[in-house]
Amino acid sequence: MPAPDAKRGAIRLDQIGKTFGETRALSGISLAAAPGSFLVLLGPSGCGKSTLLRVIAGLEAPTEGRLFLDGRDVTALPPAARGIAMVFQSYALFPHLNVEENIVFGLKARHVPRPERAERLARAAEMMGLTQLLRRRPGQLSGGQQQRVALARAVVSQAPVCLMDEPLSNLDAKLRAEMRRELRALQQRLGLTMVYVTHDQAEAMSMADQVVLMRDGHVEQDGTPAEIYARPATTFAASFIGTPPMSLLRLTAGPGGAAVLGAPDHAVAPPEAAGALLGIRPEEVVPTDGPGLPARVTSAEFLGGETILNCHIGSGEEVLQARVPGHHAMAAGTPLRLRLPPAAHLFDPATGRRLPDPAPGAARAPITADTGGEHP
Ligand code: ATP
Repeated sequence: MPAPDAKRGAIRLDQIGKTFGETRALSGISLAAAPGSFLVLLGPSGCGKSTLLRVIAGLEAPTEGRLFLDGRDVTALPPAARGIAMVFQSYALFPHLNVEENIVFGLKARHVPRPERAERLARAAEMMGLTQLLRRRPGQLSGGQQQRVALARAVVSQAPVCLMDEPLSNLDAKLRAEMRRELRALQQRLGLTMVYVTHDQAEAMSMADQVVLMRDGHVEQDGTPAEIYARPATTFAASFIGTPPMSLLRLTAGPGGAAVLGAPDHAVAPPEAAGALLGIRPEEVVPTDGPGLPARVTSAEFLGGETILNCHIGSGEEVLQARVPGHHAMAAGTPLRLRLPPAAHLFDPATGRRLPDPAPGAARAPITADTGGEHP
């Protein structure tokens, strides 16, 4: 048992696996969430996020592995005995009950005494801005208000762990952004351990302390948003995170070092990087009047404060995106030169895995060198 004053809500998964008949939904999932942290399960549709969340909740039994809450093995415990609250994408509100009844439903079921129920209700309703709406039915509420009711229901349970499955996906973009901030603030204020499922990388990056990126039922990368952004472990992680995501360029041997396919005379990485994939973040690419990688604009997308330039490199085999400040109305076919950052991200094209970083000196030297290629 944890000490009475110990912070509650530590989650640990050890080699969790799950199969549905012939379908393997999860394999070898090991991860840990610290008490009071916001962990996001991120990944494309079908990668196993919801199944993993249901395993943590106890709604689905794992086929392999063990699950610990505050150091206690809860793998075999039913959902109600785990001390976990859950908010679903659908909110799962009872349409025939009013807001108040919906919020305290779980407390009633657990026979929490009436005065305590009233006190917890008042506090949760105040916190979520629902005090004026307690007599309304869910059908008389906006999507955002329904979402708040679902959250209030989780808050009154006073469970140290809260699980959420795409809770904002039914909301419009503006409300979603507001709710993200509210949710994060609420989670921090209450010191909840949150496990939050989304396929939206921007949501994950803006809310999480820890992102667990999933693919085909396994963990592709587990780290802080900053770590995953700065050092993606695989090409999948590189191209899932970031808007637009990292460009991946094939490197070939050139006279001055490894060069992007289609622009052999412009070394961008040390010779030993030939054959690898070079990852470049769009915001690190700078159009230049000086020496740089020859490219042609294929389209320009104006986003307000910045423009995304989609470019073909050299003779056109490889595609690179640049995110540049301001408005750049460039016609398709416009030639330009691009200054790239030092070759910081190299990947094995066969496995998709990150390669050891190039030696710092070697990476920096040739990056903007113009070894005499044709100027566009
Ligand atoms: P989405 O974002 O689309 O909800 P997800 O990442 O949450 O996807 P899961 O719903 O966990 O993915 O599904 C993972 C895999 O397990 C999928 O191949 C899915 O078809 C399968 N699966 C999930 N639940 C069941 C079930 N009850 N029976 C059979 N297969 C299932």
